Amino acid sequence: MMKVTSEADSRFKGGFFPLSRAFRKTTEASDHLSLSLSLTLLNSIREVISHNMKQFWSPNSINKNKAMVENLQSHGVITSDEVAKAMEAVDRGLFVPDRSCAYVDSPLSIGYNVTISAPHMHAMCLQLLEKNLKPGMRVLDVGSGTGYLTACFAVMVGSEGRAIGVEHIPELMASSIKNIEASDAASPLLKQGSLAIHVGDGRQGWAEFAPYDAIHVGAAAPVIPEALIDQLKPGGRLVIPVGNLFQDLQVVDKNSDGSVSIRSETSVRYVPLTSREAQLRGE
Ligand code: SAH
Repeated sequence: MMKVTSEADSRFKGGFFPLSRAFRKTTEASDHLSLSLSLTLLNSIREVISHNMKQFWSPNSINKNKAMVENLQSHGVITSDEVAKAMEAVDRGLFVPDRSCAYVDSPLSIGYNVTISAPHMHAMCLQLLEKNLKPGMRVLDVGSGTGYLTACFAVMVGSEGRAIGVEHIPELMASSIKNIEASDAASPLLKQGSLAIHVGDGRQGWAEFAPYDAIHVGAAAPVIPEALIDQLKPGGRLVIPVGNLFQDLQVVDKNSDGSVSIRSETSVRYVPLTSREAQLRGE
């Protein structure tokens, strides 16, 4: 049977946390044993839940965000020190509506028919863009949502660089500013002006600070918007999910002669890059 992988488990089948593996097992088991779930499976789910509770929710857990980053490192999703440092510095818990779920490797609803991406997708995109997120570089985050990834970008490019988020839901833009203000790592950059979030249609990019070394798109476009390629520097990289029901995370590199090379990194499932009206109608 053909399966569409969700954003949460696009590359690493089963996700990073044993809990999601157990749920996948559950799904697979129900395909084959349609009548009943075995007791063994129920017990293993119970064990996995209590393991996760111990690992992430016990009062002894010193830093749940750090544990999340270490988990992504141990699974090989984060390989660079810079990415690990940025994700450690920006506490994901400040950016999600329900803090108790913040460190689970899953996308979470943030209202307005959209989600904050799963930690492994954020990590994967940071890794893909890492060479274009050096101090002093310019980065555009289209569909910035909670502001989490824009904040990570800002921390990586630093006060000499520029990180611009574009979000088309004004309420999400306003709450992303509050989230960033609560972050010790990102709020000084917001104050100082190297980090900013704007309301706009991200399919047009953000021409004011173009060209960019890195462009990230957090929602799936039916085709790559021309404006985003135009706003990429020679040597710049765009990471964008492309497609409708079936989507690929595409990596677009602009060569020094202005031509582009495009490759697919992995299959993904993102919310659509669309008009505000279509999104609010749930299309
Ligand atoms: N990367 C963000 C949000 C991902 S969800 C995070 O992880 O928090 C995708 C976001 O893209 C949503 O916030 C949605 O409102 C926004 N979006 C969708 N189409 C858009 C468009 N045309 N212009 C700007 N933002 C858009």
